[in-house]
Amino acid sequence: MSARIAFCGLDCALCPAFLATSRKDQGLRRKTAQEWSQIYDSTIEASQINCLGCQQCQGPRFFICQHCTIRSCGLGRGLPTCADCPDYPCPQLQRLLDLAPTARDNLEALRRREGRG
Ligand code: SF4
Ligand code: SF4
Repeated sequence: MSARIAFCGLDCALCPAFLATSRKDQGLRRKTAQEWSQIYDSTIEASQINCLGCQQCQGPRFFICQHCTIRSCGLGRGLPTCADCPDYPCPQLQRLLDLAPTARDNLEALRRREGRG
């Protein structure tokens, strides 16, 4: 499993924002900005597709992930990810896991590896 698992379980290494940033791929930035503008029903510019991942303390982060309450909750509790949380899965996380089965799979795999599953 990637070492870039976000607090919520999403794999940042597979995210187009991460790939566009790490590869300096302007075409992928533009494509992702168009797709995410539709998904988020908002105007997202290619220049905003700039992110080195949820777990990075330094460097750019996509503004929606920067303000993610799951991320701030995990950070506030000093956890590596939500997989380590005694309240796993809290209702807030559960709503995301229902929409993103791969995030659930990643967190469950971490919990099994740590003997929590
Ligand atoms: S933190 Fe960045 S790389 Fe991770 S899911 Fe969010 S936008 Fe993608
Ligand atoms: S309460 Fe636990 S599982 Fe829920 S968002 Fe916070 S760290 Fe994650």
